[in-house]
Amino acid sequence: MPRVPIGRAAVEKKGWFRANRWLLLRRTSQLLIIALFLIGPLAFVEWSDDAEEKIWLIKGSLASNVVLDTVPLSDPFIYLQTLLSGQAFEQTVLIGALIVTLFYLLVGGRVYCSWVCPMNIVTDSAGWLRRKLGLKKKCELSPNLRFWVLGLVMVMALVAGNLLWELVNPVTLLQRGLLYGMGAGWMVVAALFLYDLLWSRNGWCGHLCPMGAFYSLLGRLSLVRVRAVDREACNDCMDCFVVCPEPQVIRPALKGEDGVSPLIDESLCTNCGRCIDICGPEVFRFGGRFNK
Ligand code: SF4
Ligand code: SF4
Repeated sequence: MPRVPIGRAAVEKKGWFRANRWLLLRRTSQLLIIALFLIGPLAFVEWSDDAEEKIWLIKGSLASNVVLDTVPLSDPFIYLQTLLSGQAFEQTVLIGALIVTLFYLLVGGRVYCSWVCPMNIVTDSAGWLRRKLGLKKKCELSPNLRFWVLGLVMVMALVAGNLLWELVNPVTLLQRGLLYGMGAGWMVVAALFLYDLLWSRNGWCGHLCPMGAFYSLLGRLSLVRVRAVDREACNDCMDCFVVCPEPQVIRPALKGEDGVSPLIDESLCTNCGRCIDICGPEVFRFGGRFNK
C-alpha cells in the first residue's frame, strides 16, 4: 500500500492551521527577531533626527544586544569563547549572558535553534526540499560529532586568544549578513544548504553545529518538554520521525524503551513542536518536566 503523504492525516484530522501551528509560530519568532534588529530606533519621545530623542527596541546583534536601552542580552556561547580567549569584556555583557543562560536553562537550550537561530530556516528548508524530492541520505556522521567540534572551538579560542570560530560561524555570518549585507557569507550558508539537501539529512544542525551542541548542554534539565501523552494512540505512521530534526530523541518516549516515562528527555530535542503539529492521533503535547 502506498505511504500516505507526510502530514496528510494531521491536516485531515485537525485542519491545516493546527497541523502547522508550531511551525508558523516558530517562523514568526525567527523573522520577528530579525525584523526587530532591522527596525532600529523607534521614535519614542517625538520623531527626530536627534539620536538622543530615540529609544531603540533592540540595539546590537544576536551575539550581544540591549533591549529598550535597558536590558542587556548576550549569547553565552560567544561569551564563553570571549572568556577563554582572555579578551576584555564589559560587565553588562556578563549580565546579559547570565540572563540568556537562565532563560535557556528553563525553557530548553535548543529552543535557541528552533525559535531564534536564522540558520534553522535554511536547514529546515533543505530538509523539506530533500523530503519533497525523495532524496536519500548519502553520508551518516555521528550526532555526537558536534560535541567534539564544540570542544575544538573552545580550544581554538583558548590557544589563539581570539574568537576564530566566529569568523566562519554560519549563524553569525547569516545574522550579520541579514542586518548589514551578506558579502561572502552567502557562500557558507549556500554550502550548508546544499550539504543538507544533497548529502546528509539534518547534516549541519543535527551533527556538526557546535552552537547547537552548546545549547543542548544548557537545556539538559529544562522545565519545558514535549511529552508523548497519548502514546497508546500512536498508529506507527512514522510521520514524527520523518519531520523531527533529531529523530533519535522520540523513540524512548514513544516506544517506552526507557522505563515508562512519556517525557522526551533528551536535551537534543529543540522543542520545535513539529512532532505535535504533524501527528494525526495527537500523541504529543508540550508540558512541564514534572507533569504527570
Ligand atoms: S544547530 Fe546551529 S545552525 Fe542549527 S539551528 Fe542550532 S545554532 Fe542554528
Ligand atoms: S521531538 Fe518533537 S519537539 Fe523535539 S525536536 Fe523532534 S519534532 Fe521537535
